[in-house]
Amino acid sequence: MKALIIGGGVGGLATALTLHVHGIDAEIFEQSPEVKELGVGINTLPHAIKELAELGLLEELQRVGIQTSELTYANRFGQTIWQEPRGLAAGYDYPQFSIHRGKLQTVLHDAVVARMGPVVRTGHRFTRFEQTPDSVTAYFDKDGGEVSAAGDLLIGADGINSTLRAIFFPGEGPPLWDGVVQWRGAVIKKPWKTGTEMMVAGPRNRKFIYYPISDDVAEPGKQLVNWTVTIKLAEFGTDMQSSADWSRIGDRELLHKYLQEADFQLGEFDPKSIVDATDQIFEYPRCDRDPLPYWSQGRVTLLGDAAHAMYPVGSNGASQAILDARCLADCLSGSNPVPGAIAAYEDARRPPTTEIVHQNRRSGPEQVIDLVEERAPDGFEHLSDVASDEELRSIIKGYSTMAGFGKDQVNK
Ligand SMILES: Cc1cc2nc3c(=O)[nH]c(=O)nc-3n(C[C@H](O)[C@H](O)[C@H](O)COP(=O)(O)OP(=O)(O)OC[C@H]3O[C@@H](n4cnc5c(N)ncnc54)[C@H](O)[C@@H]3O)c2cc1C
Repeated sequence: MKALIIGGGVGGLATALTLHVHGIDAEIFEQSPEVKELGVGINTLPHAIKELAELGLLEELQRVGIQTSELTYANRFGQTIWQEPRGLAAGYDYPQFSIHRGKLQTVLHDAVVARMGPVVRTGHRFTRFEQTPDSVTAYFDKDGGEVSAAGDLLIGADGINSTLRAIFFPGEGPPLWDGVVQWRGAVIKKPWKTGTEMMVAGPRNRKFIYYPISDDVAEPGKQLVNWTVTIKLAEFGTDMQSSADWSRIGDRELLHKYLQEADFQLGEFDPKSIVDATDQIFEYPRCDRDPLPYWSQGRVTLLGDAAHAMYPVGSNGASQAILDARCLADCLSGSNPVPGAIAAYEDARRPPTTEIVHQNRRSGPEQVIDLVEERAPDGFEHLSDVASDEELRSIIKGYSTMAGFGKDQVNK
């Protein structure tokens, strides 16, 4: 059996590796001329790390990422609303990693090449497909000409702006913007606490996120730290001012202006000086897509962001793509013919990821911050006067169980 995979991102590469373990050949077609280490920080949760560990990648991830030990949710005055251990520190059998997205992609890419040979075809932009009852042919734009490849199935792991999804749903249009812009960057800093903690401060409309992603920096005793500033600029449903392009360079002056208005008072974290110390900043509209009524047609299916683009809250985007990969490979390795296996994959993965898209629209686990902000917009003296531990815990635990990374679900 041979799979054709569109997209050499986290989802596409994880899929190729997982299929390979199951004895299924795969070829990846990536539109970029080369696989470069793009993006900044990303989090991968223990349920996804379990899958990557089974692929033998734990050691490499440990080398390039940070094992997250603690997560703090705070208000914009830096007052703690929720704090919990994460990953191994929380008793999971597998860590949570905070990692540079490009490094994660490189770990996966290098493993694909080492195990499967030169199966990543760069400079191939997928344009269309044809299928018969027995096979599927995908067509690509390469250097201005059309080339094709044939296989037993076609997987669209081509991200939030997926061409395959647009072929399935031609009327869908661009992603949906909630009016929030996220500025992102990575900067060398001295470790905060033990250098393994993550902080999310502020409600959904003005938020500051901070977590380390690498110890591998030239300056001794320092780390590479990821930050994100999230500010609401328009109403939900407003046309996006820019496309959903993860590599768009951010406007520093504009960010300064919004930071001043947002008035973060985070004590030891001064977002303005952190932004000023950062060489390159990116801006990205916070957007997702409505969940789909179906992902598949015969031998062709969607995976990762192409299937279920979601707001980046709760650290689930990359993790869910990795879970998709495992599920698809499991379904294909059974006795079902390809279309039946694809249907089983969709049956297993579409309902839970649909729920995560909806939950993330309601801020996911970060609802605890929104709730406290609503009740105490100017901060609080005693958190217990504002929200009970039970109320906060039920939001946090409800989300982790719904997204499949409750401790009992992972440590099986
Ligand atoms: C350049 C980039 C930077 C990112 N940076 C961050 C970040 O800093 N933080 C964060 O949380 N998330 C980031 N993301 C998103 C994150 O990687 C995904 O949400 C998550 O990993 C799920 O991955 P995916 O493989 O489904 O999609 P993606 O990671 O988006 O990968 C999709 C891949 O498909 C390729 N592709 C698209 N269209 C075609 C086509 N027609 N033909 C062939 N190939 C195609 C793209 O070039 C890309 O390599 C970034 C994504 C990209 C593409």
